[in-house]
Amino acid sequence: MARGLRGGLRLTAAVNRTGRYAPSPTGTLHLGNLRTALLAWLYARAQDAPFLLRVEDLDRGRVRARYEVEQLADLAAIGLDWDGEVVRQSTREELYADALARLDADAALYPCWCTRAEIREAASAPHGPLPEGHYPGTCRRLTAAQRAEREASGRPPALRVDAGAARVTFTDRLHGVQEGVVDDFVVRRNDGAYAYNLAVVVDDGAQGVGEVVRGDDLLDSTPRQLWLAERLGLPAATFAHVPLVLGGDGARLAKRHGAVTLADRAEQGESAAEVRGRLAASVGLAQPGERPAPEELVARFDPDAFSPPPSGPLPGL
Ligand SMILES: [Zn+2]
Repeated sequence: MARGLRGGLRLTAAVNRTGRYAPSPTGTLHLGNLRTALLAWLYARAQDAPFLLRVEDLDRGRVRARYEVEQLADLAAIGLDWDGEVVRQSTREELYADALARLDADAALYPCWCTRAEIREAASAPHGPLPEGHYPGTCRRLTAAQRAEREASGRPPALRVDAGAARVTFTDRLHGVQEGVVDDFVVRRNDGAYAYNLAVVVDDGAQGVGEVVRGDDLLDSTPRQLWLAERLGLPAATFAHVPLVLGGDGARLAKRHGAVTLADRAEQGESAAEVRGRLAASVGLAQPGERPAPEELVARFDPDAFSPPPSGPLPGL
């Protein structure tokens, strides 16, 4: 029972529903990306909340400026808008460096020299069946001599957090109660680039994002990010992990699945409004063939009742 404070007056903290979409400019957005963006926008707008756009361009080797221009144009073409300036992660490295310094001061970091192959090998060793992609903590347990040997190798280390296999529980809007064990994940790669999990947590905190809506392929990353947010003293966001669009073969949507971008659809004679209608219909927000305006979709969207079908192909594609 909610207990009233001060003579029965019930105080409710204002819930922050500020949303965001955060594409990486490493390719053209496909219909699955566009549907996730549309849903993130709908969650925010249906709750009268701000919607932010953040360009995740830290992976310098893969980022192309022309993709950013194209991605923003495609998002606008299907009727999405955003508040304030577009934020680029490449301009925010001081924030990430500051977060790392705070973690370091808190003795929460250690260097890791392991190669991918070494991690795979260690993770498949008989003594420790770890969840896929989990790091077994090899470099946390190095002796002084082993550490000195690795330091002398000249190979630059990555930086990992010492998460102590923390257990994190959270409630996802669409997936219900989730629990995960946090492994010692990378926060700075050995090429010096800040890792996705660090940047996303720092940015969501700094930008005041209250509700993260993204593809359900990131559901497994959420315990790490919640752990890190808490460690950095940032408020925890709420989450809605939405289904992915798959190709007809059940794999994640990709170029090889045919006409999967807005430009491809335009070549087939399908307008951006028709694509928006198709995306909305695929999650039960429109009838097949219907072309609701963005405002109409906002009016229809109920964040508390939205219940999309699981990941799958787009009907009729
Ligand atoms: Zn290591």
